[in-house]
Amino acid sequence: MAEQEICPRCGLPKELCVCDILDKEGAKRIKVTTQKTKFNKVMTVVSGLVGDELEKTAKDLKRILSCGGTAKNGIIELQGDHKEAVKKALIQLGYPEDSIEIA
Ligand SMILES: [Zn+2]
Repeated sequence: MAEQEICPRCGLPKELCVCDILDKEGAKRIKVTTQKTKFNKVMTVVSGLVGDELEKTAKDLKRILSCGGTAKNGIIELQGDHKEAVKKALIQLGYPEDSIEIA
């Protein structure tokens, strides 16, 4: 029988190891950027959320930041520059800090 490969991180055989999956889940997935609109105003764009999470988070962010915004095509657009505030709000909503990237 061939020797089993052991994961150096968790000590489990490679076939039982979930480190790669955990890495993926912990990887940055929410991106917060700002964009100029065609009316020369700034909006904050949050991408990386999908489905119900997108709609729900858009609603929560608008409430927390008291600003207007929309959720469409997989992104949340908020009126104004709220990059840092959005990050704080997302953490408040339960998203891990590590998963939020400010660009
Ligand atoms: Zn492992």
